[in-house]
Amino acid sequence: MRDQLNKTKKVLIKKTHPKGSMPPGRSPFRQAMLALIIFLILVSAYSLFSGIGSQAEEVSLSELARDISAGAVSEIVVMGDKLAVTYENGDEKISKKEAGTALSTTLRNYEVGAEELSQVRIEVKNDQGFLYWFGSLAPILLPIVFVLFILWFLTRQVRGAGMQAFTFGQSKARMTSPDDKNQRVTFKDVAGSKEAKEELREIVDFLKNPKKFLDIGARIPKGILLMGAPGTGKTLLARAVAGEAGVSFFSISGSEFVEMFVGVGASRVRDLFDLAKKAAPAIIFVDEIDAVGRVRGTGVGGGNDEREQTLNQILVELDGFEPNEKVIVMAATNRPDVLDPALLRPGRFDRRVTLDLPDRKDREEILLIHARKKPFAEDVNLSLIAERTPGFSGADLYSLMNEAAILAAREERSKVSQFDLIRSIEKVIMGPERKSHLLSKKEKELTAYHEAGHALVASVLPYADPVHKISIISRGRALGYTMKLPLEERKLQSKKEFLDDIAVGLGGYVVEKNIFGDVTTGPSNDLQITTALARDMVTKYGMSDKMGPIALEAASGKPLFGMGVGDRDYSEVVGAAIDAEVSSIMSDAMKKVEKIIKEHRKVLDAIALRLIEVETIEQKEFEDILITHGITPKKKKDIEHQA
Ligand code: ADP
Ligand code: MG
Ligand code: ZN
Repeated sequence: MRDQLNKTKKVLIKKTHPKGSMPPGRSPFRQAMLALIIFLILVSAYSLFSGIGSQAEEVSLSELARDISAGAVSEIVVMGDKLAVTYENGDEKISKKEAGTALSTTLRNYEVGAEELSQVRIEVKNDQGFLYWFGSLAPILLPIVFVLFILWFLTRQVRGAGMQAFTFGQSKARMTSPDDKNQRVTFKDVAGSKEAKEELREIVDFLKNPKKFLDIGARIPKGILLMGAPGTGKTLLARAVAGEAGVSFFSISGSEFVEMFVGVGASRVRDLFDLAKKAAPAIIFVDEIDAVGRVRGTGVGGGNDEREQTLNQILVELDGFEPNEKVIVMAATNRPDVLDPALLRPGRFDRRVTLDLPDRKDREEILLIHARKKPFAEDVNLSLIAERTPGFSGADLYSLMNEAAILAAREERSKVSQFDLIRSIEKVIMGPERKSHLLSKKEKELTAYHEAGHALVASVLPYADPVHKISIISRGRALGYTMKLPLEERKLQSKKEFLDDIAVGLGGYVVEKNIFGDVTTGPSNDLQITTALARDMVTKYGMSDKMGPIALEAASGKPLFGMGVGDRDYSEVVGAAIDAEVSSIMSDAMKKVEKIIKEHRKVLDAIALRLIEVETIEQKEFEDILITHGITPKKKKDIEHQA
């Protein structure tokens, strides 16, 4: 926990002192030293100049007149009112004459004879001399210069602390120009997503050849909203549209609108749209638009004025567009349910494109795309990997490929093998193995029985997914895990499957409770997941006989549009009925599991003991254990029959 805290602190500091705003070697301390040194130089320069003459002895005019009459003076230099007097014996003295009167006149007034005066060399120096002016102005100027210098120095400091203050308002969008071959992405780089690409091809057509559409009076959509789970390639697809059409691509993330300074979001939006109009035809891409586009005026999720103003400005800009402006706004979100309905009105983001998680064939294509630049061993079979990775997004598959390459490189092999890919699947799902985390003997036993419980229930119940691997090597946050793989991909889940899933989820909990007579914190995550599942059955899918066919909550799980937490559209009475129904589903499932564990105690022991011994059991070995105890493992065909 402490680690975590330190990290956030560092990040914060980095933000207020962005890299590059302060050149290396210009630490605040050094700057202060520099300022001090410059100050000292100025001060000493001043005292040097003002010191001219102050060293020499000063004589009064009458004295000077007497000395001249006595013939003791050889030279007088006149600078304005000042007189530098050199005596015959080499002494140097200074004196002053009355301002505005010639020296000779003054001296004559002191009754110096013309003859004596002619013995003295008199030199008049230009009054305008630099030194003269400097000498007389320095006392006034130096403090002013010094104050200005301090001010300049301080503003430098401020600038160093937040360079962004000066890029205020300007949009932070990144632009990719169509001529940039390195960054160019086309539909070829996007695997699968057939329908999405089909929809977007129309947009590409328009951007390539707008005249054709405008001539016939067609209104081209201004806004396109890409929706889909994280990692399904929304950002990638938006870039591909720009790449296909060969137009400029301005991309900005929703969260960047509201960064750092309040009141900047709206002006950023304006700048961004102006920029894009100048570069038209162009695409503006607002990634993660839910960061600014949440439902307004609810106060939920940190509702702030800043976000609303930014959103309003986006709406204004969208409305202000002429259809012939050839700028298309694309936006992406994985939370379409929280978006403000105003964004989805006709004339705004009225085109919606949904990206689904890839199916088996698409997964293989995605793997192929990311396999392009990697050397593979002979044994690699990407279609098998695709089969084993249901539920993986494009981004997951990308990181799977990457992990495999890293594994191969770490083991000093020049080619990626099938084994690397298989190990990477688990790594992507669960996070890296934590070999260093040692379980105590007691913990190990408990974990083994817990996982064996999940696995046993999954093998006995007809509608549960079969077990693919069990392990008590901790990964990520989990101490152990049982991996189940659906035999085929399902778009629809039935009530029976849900009920069996809940039972499997409770397997670990019931084993701990019944066999060890105590419950640890271990199954808390299992309980959360199963309870949520049971609740969804009742409130979303109409799978409860008591409640009947009614959807009580919106698809997001939160009440519609997130209007206020705890703000439900059903009464307390109905709420209580839901709770009763959920807990009856849970306790039915628990009874079912208790029965299975009692009946198959021998198998449970066998699985657990084997786990303690070898820590990881693969599918083949697991099925062997089942068979020796008279349970037939599920095969692909059986399930297809049942479905
Ligand atoms: P999203 O914006 O939907 O969260 P991204 O577009 O950022 O997802 O996808 C992340 C990465 O996953 C992409 O850069 C790409 O490498 C990979 N990816 C995702 N979907 C696909 C796909 N359909 N085809 C090829 N690569 C994909
Ligand atoms: Mg994205
Ligand atoms: Zn568990």
